[in-house]
Amino acid sequence: MSTFAELGLSETLLNAVAEEGYEKPSPIQTRAIPPVLDGEDVMAAAQTGTGKTAAFTLPLLQRLQDDGRVGHVRALVITPTRELAAQVEDSVRRYGKHSGLRSCVVFGGVKINPQIERLKRGVEILVATPGRLLDLHGQGALKLDQLELLVLDEADRMLDMGFIHDIRKIIKLLPRERQTLMFSATFSREIRELARNFMLDPVEVSVTPPNSTADTVKQWVYPVDKKRKPALLSHLVKDKQWHQVLVFTRTKHGANRLTKTLEKDGIAAAAIHGNKSQNARTRALDGFKRGKVQALVATDIAARGLDIDQLPQVVNFDLPNVAEDYVHRIGRTGRAGAAGHAYSLVSADEADQLHGIERLIKKPLPREEIEGFEPDHVLPEGKPQQRQRRPQQARHGRGANSGDNRPAGGRRRRRSRRSNGGSGESRGNR
Ligand code: ADP
Ligand code: MG
Repeated sequence: MSTFAELGLSETLLNAVAEEGYEKPSPIQTRAIPPVLDGEDVMAAAQTGTGKTAAFTLPLLQRLQDDGRVGHVRALVITPTRELAAQVEDSVRRYGKHSGLRSCVVFGGVKINPQIERLKRGVEILVATPGRLLDLHGQGALKLDQLELLVLDEADRMLDMGFIHDIRKIIKLLPRERQTLMFSATFSREIRELARNFMLDPVEVSVTPPNSTADTVKQWVYPVDKKRKPALLSHLVKDKQWHQVLVFTRTKHGANRLTKTLEKDGIAAAAIHGNKSQNARTRALDGFKRGKVQALVATDIAARGLDIDQLPQVVNFDLPNVAEDYVHRIGRTGRAGAAGHAYSLVSADEADQLHGIERLIKKPLPREEIEGFEPDHVLPEGKPQQRQRRPQQARHGRGANSGDNRPAGGRRRRRSRRSNGGSGESRGNR
């Protein structure tokens, strides 16, 4: 299917989509929108930047549209980070501006009272981070007992960030009769486990093999001694005239330190990570988007889910410990078909991480030494590519529903449909 109209979206939503300038649905939108409109539970995986927000927001709006404004929360979207919550709510607002439905966003790190006041005025669609949502509920500011639709966005990241207990608590507050959607970059074993517990015979849609890097991203490794990394980064920013570069560090402390060094070198830099206040994070991100901040230095968790349009390049100042994070990081560039560039500054002690990444993405990364920064400690060559095959994971079966607070089945009539489309290879093999 090649148009939004063919997916079954209503006139008002088609107008909203046209106003956004979207010409046709992205693959994940094509696959996810119809089953969501049909009332199915859906678990969807597609890499970052592929339009997952609209894939759940558009059909969500359509499902709520008929009954319209009722003054209680009918749909809840949970996201792992504050930035992401704000971005998702912004999309809800934009796509839903002709719908008459009201939305609001709540997250921690800012005053709770204005949020309580806002909820009192009536909201149909709530976007929230888990902690603040539970706080608000605990204070009696929020009722979720008439909820119709739950969305867990960036579910894999929520698990990584340790939100599983909060998620369980939240789900206990919701009616069993509801539609549940889960969006994620990958389907991990843990994600399937979560789905088995909280969803009813979900339709699975997956449009990219997990952990494949976007083909549009050109990648390089610059071997360099550890202590010379900051100088190399300053050199690159100036030499290549980068006006907007997202830089990843492994730790918050590392992010702060690097930001200071860059500033000393005359580069406008800001750090974004979990220890920063919400205001500081928003300011840093705004500055970056407006071009006042040249280098945004971020940890993995802070960077996940940021929607920064057409970021020309990302730099891995440190390689991540978890190879999958490399894929998420470079997914920040080369979005929506635009060419992107990813540069990794790699010191000899990071050889293992580098090999792990090359194994995951199944290709060696080209290395290039930069004049004046040739390392004393040589980065070992990559080992010949060995395809590491893990045993195929068992296909997700109809859950046994143990420990579930959902009925054992038959709540809604279900088609036993499992689409697993797009580029095919979507599970087990990585
Ligand atoms: P994801 O959640 O998969 O990381 P987002 O939902 O944040 O991706 O979307 C990434 C970008 O793509 C956003 O800037 C969004 O406006 C844009 N986008 C989404 N759907 C379409 C579409 N059908 N056509 C063009 N751009 C789109
Ligand atoms: Mg997203």
